[in-house]
Amino acid sequence: MDQERLIDLRDETEDMLKATELGEHPDAEAFDERFDDAADKLEQILVGDISEWVGRFYRKRYHRWQSGDREKPLCRCENPRCPLKRGDIPYRLRRRDSQIRADGGTGREVLSGYLDSHPQAVIIDEALDKQAALATELAREFRQLQRDIAAAIEAVIDGRVDDTETHN
Ligand SMILES: [Zn+2]
Repeated sequence: MDQERLIDLRDETEDMLKATELGEHPDAEAFDERFDDAADKLEQILVGDISEWVGRFYRKRYHRWQSGDREKPLCRCENPRCPLKRGDIPYRLRRRDSQIRADGGTGREVLSGYLDSHPQAVIIDEALDKQAALATELAREFRQLQRDIAAAIEAVIDGRVDDTETHN
């Protein structure tokens, strides 16, 4: 799932939520909540400040590796001081949103940029895979939400929604 396409999907969904007809539908609030959930995830995992997400992703696997539940090393590089081998997230990936953005690029680009300069970082490769899987899930959720919103708008237009509360 292309990241720009995913952002478009989010924006399209947000626009659909502004339809005046939707205000008369009993599920309007639930749609808003589903949208906020998906939009938050998109921001935390792919587009915005991903440092917290990467941190959690990394620590979970580092603990597994330390306790012997994971065989694959987190990084295969030669550097004995490599932070990824010592339980640390590299500085470049820990920095906050503003710096990441200042360097140009989204969270996902920061991860792939890091992998370019440190290609043995198995764990970063895995984080990128995980992001891709989550992106597919989010795209599915936005599309489903769009279908549900469209159906709700149609129901209001067709007068299939009990709107007595709103109009009396
Ligand atoms: Zn390394």
